[in-house]
Amino acid sequence: MTVPPCTTDPDLFFPDKTDQATIQAAQAICDTCPIRNMCLTQARRNDEQFGVWGGRNFGDRDVILDSSGWPVGVPRTRFRGTHCRKGGHEFTRENTRWSYHNGKLTRACLPCIRARKAQAYVRKREHRSQLLAV
Ligand code: SF4
Ligand SMILES: [Zn+2]
Repeated sequence: MTVPPCTTDPDLFFPDKTDQATIQAAQAICDTCPIRNMCLTQARRNDEQFGVWGGRNFGDRDVILDSSGWPVGVPRTRFRGTHCRKGGHEFTRENTRWSYHNGKLTRACLPCIRARKAQAYVRKREHRSQLLAV
């Protein structure tokens, strides 16, 4: 019976989304795996949302949008609001960022994200000037 190499160190196969080194290390192991193709097919069938399977990182998968900018296969009723709650921005194609967060599809408002980033930037600058003042 074939023993998949990933069974010896399963943690390596569930890396943090931003941990490229670990993702690549896991993918390199998959490259040597005798059941790589079968594993990938099965992971696709199971709609895996986490981890490296068959050499592919499913934890970082892209959201595929249709021509209207809506995620393929997701009913419209799943996200009802047409405007973001915080800033009242309309969820247009340009204003919307779709992503998977902990395996869950999420819709975020880009103008709000940009505003939060700008605020964080200001906080960081203030923090630095406070440090320089000491
Ligand atoms: S291809 Fe699948 S079974 Fe093989 S090492 Fe990678 S994750 Fe494990
Ligand atoms: Zn907004």
